[in-house]
Amino acid sequence: MSRSKPNILLIYTGGTIGMVKDAGTGALHAFNFNNLLKRIPELQLLDCNIETVSFENPIDSSNMNPEYWVKIAEIIESHYNDCDGFVVLHGSDTMSYTASALSFMLENLSKPVVFTGAQLPIGDLRTDAKENLITSIQIASLQENNEPAIKEVCLYFEYKLYRGNRTTKINAEHFQAFRSLNYPCLAESGVHLKINQQYLLSNEVAGPLKVHKTLDSNIGLVKLFPGVTESYINSVLNTSNLRAVILETYGSGNCTTEAWFVEALKNAISKGIHIINVTQCVGGGVNMGQYETSSKLKKIGVISGGDMTTESAVTKLMYLLGKNLSSKTLKIKFEASLTGEVS
Ligand code: ASP
Repeated sequence: MSRSKPNILLIYTGGTIGMVKDAGTGALHAFNFNNLLKRIPELQLLDCNIETVSFENPIDSSNMNPEYWVKIAEIIESHYNDCDGFVVLHGSDTMSYTASALSFMLENLSKPVVFTGAQLPIGDLRTDAKENLITSIQIASLQENNEPAIKEVCLYFEYKLYRGNRTTKINAEHFQAFRSLNYPCLAESGVHLKINQQYLLSNEVAGPLKVHKTLDSNIGLVKLFPGVTESYINSVLNTSNLRAVILETYGSGNCTTEAWFVEALKNAISKGIHIINVTQCVGGGVNMGQYETSSKLKKIGVISGGDMTTESAVTKLMYLLGKNLSSKTLKIKFEASLTGEVS
């Protein structure tokens, strides 16, 4: 690729954006990425050089997992020096998980990694894919003083650019499928592309890109509900090889104060299992100690997820567990902002 224009790498992992309908069953399945480019001749008009890489077997993002996250990170790593920005095409179902994971795995990122996808396939007459793709590429190509304008992992969907690790998929029907309730959007696309400079990550990058590839998925995720039984909680806490459990609690981090529940958590913590508290609300966060129903959790050493999304908490936990930190260090790191994921 030449250097007079920004070089953008488009990575196709799969998802609706590049799917076609099976003539027989009507079900959507992934198809060859090269056909996707043929369907958007407008891409030639963009003021950047575009190179493409595709998963050999593109996946529906419901099949996404940590091995695929490493694969995406390695594609970025191997093209890092030659490219000015990256656009990752990904199914919307688990896009927030992947964007969150990559935000932790790509340490010292100094270039944009923009995740996008679509609710309707690119070939569909009413598709949202073209706008999402074209604007994502434009965002990834933005330069300021010969440097990328955005230096973080983000997610672009339906006219808005969000910090990736602050997003959640909230709608399976609307084109506006994502929200970032605890952090303002980084940019908005209208007649002009308006970048909200003040919300971009502005950390000084401390060195060359470092890609973290060891993730530990021996974790559990429990959404509390009124009536949750002791046997259910205990069966989760007794899972073999379990290293941590994320509790999705009520409101600002509240849960039942029944003795069996608190005892079960205390017991798990004493065995070295980390217990994390995130809220099941889509906005706001955990504030342990605000109500009596969360004070006990704080006292027994439950880790606060603050206003982190569940997607961020899950991936941050896998990332930190991969580092084999002491319990104390893991708690400190989990509660701190590593890459803008928590206020
Ligand atoms: N099931 C699809 C996926 O996540 C939906 C989408 O592409 O938006 O891969």
